[in-house]
Amino acid sequence: MSTVKGQSVEVRSLSKTYGPTVALDDLSLTVQAGEFLAILGPSGSGKSTALMTIAGFEFADRGQILIGGQAIDRVPAHRRGIGMVFQRYALFPHLSVAENLAYSLRRRGCPDQEIRQRVATALDLVKLTGLGARSIGELSGGQQQRVAIARATISNPTVLLMDEPMSALDRKLRQHMQLELKLLQRELGTTVILVTHDQEEAMSMADRIALLDHGRLRQVGTPAALYHQPADAFVADFIGRTNFLPLASCSLRVAGFASGLAHALATNSPRTGARAGVRPEDVLLCLEHEEGEACRIIETAFSGSTQTVLVEAAGHRLIAEQPARERAWRPGDVAVLRFRPGSVRLFDQSSVANQEKSHAA
Ligand code: ADP
Repeated sequence: MSTVKGQSVEVRSLSKTYGPTVALDDLSLTVQAGEFLAILGPSGSGKSTALMTIAGFEFADRGQILIGGQAIDRVPAHRRGIGMVFQRYALFPHLSVAENLAYSLRRRGCPDQEIRQRVATALDLVKLTGLGARSIGELSGGQQQRVAIARATISNPTVLLMDEPMSALDRKLRQHMQLELKLLQRELGTTVILVTHDQEEAMSMADRIALLDHGRLRQVGTPAALYHQPADAFVADFIGRTNFLPLASCSLRVAGFASGLAHALATNSPRTGARAGVRPEDVLLCLEHEEGEACRIIETAFSGSTQTVLVEAAGHRLIAEQPARERAWRPGDVAVLRFRPGSVRLFDQSSVANQEKSHAA
């Protein structure tokens, strides 16, 4: 394990508007030295604005940014010790791979011998050894992305910022690069802030996730914390999937629901219009059970290890996710539905309303 070379990043009460649009609304966030943080949120939630402000390409109306404990608001972008990977990589198409990597070192007056060495090391790091003379147009999408990462890390940045760096890659390559990038970050010890709208990418790569909505921080925590203890309905719906059931019309006799509800009600005091939320993997289907609610299978989808099943019970439609090995459900099948004990959560109306507003946007 390498010694940590990363620096902490602290964002304090950042606010930014573009005319009537609020892009950042009092955003505060601390990223530890060497940590991998993903900024996640729907389109237009302020992710790129937050990243560009940290990079020094945008300026906030209010608030402060500290890197390694030092305020950097007046420090120009190129002096912040930051490496940046953009969505479309922003490589120079007329320069070779090696020249793309050497560009920033040359501008800083690095001696030729050192440039050659650092370019070779950087190519090694991203597994492109021997491809330095190629032109950018002769590379695949995955290779171009590796060049962009090598270029962003060649000056040994203490903080690496990435804006949707995987979005131009197909799914298989994206999953492969996610893993490689995570390994590389461990090797380098750099602090990484990744912007993505893809929750799977954020969950699989980041130590912690900061979930934004309308420029505001909804929750920050480990992927597991956001999944298992969502702060509100917006988080519960954005991270993974949640079935929401209105409490007022909860005529479901479902086993696990009544007891889960009693527990949830004892620890929360929901306002009128509150909803209960259950994860699809906590909706259990079987052929027979003395407790539970009769339900009908409406539709199914096979995804390898699991089968996703849309069921209707007591006038409600719910999504259940079942281990595919257990049984293959078919549309029209009749089953008994239960909720895993302790899996029901309560969400009050205000967060549900926000969630619906965000979906409508
Ligand atoms: P995200 O990266 O989450 O998609 P952005 O940070 O790009 O969100 O944008 C946040 C909000 O600010 C959006 O409503 C967007 O339309 C607006 N916005 C971003 N940049 C500009 C700009 N240069 N001019 C006007 N509005 C902008």
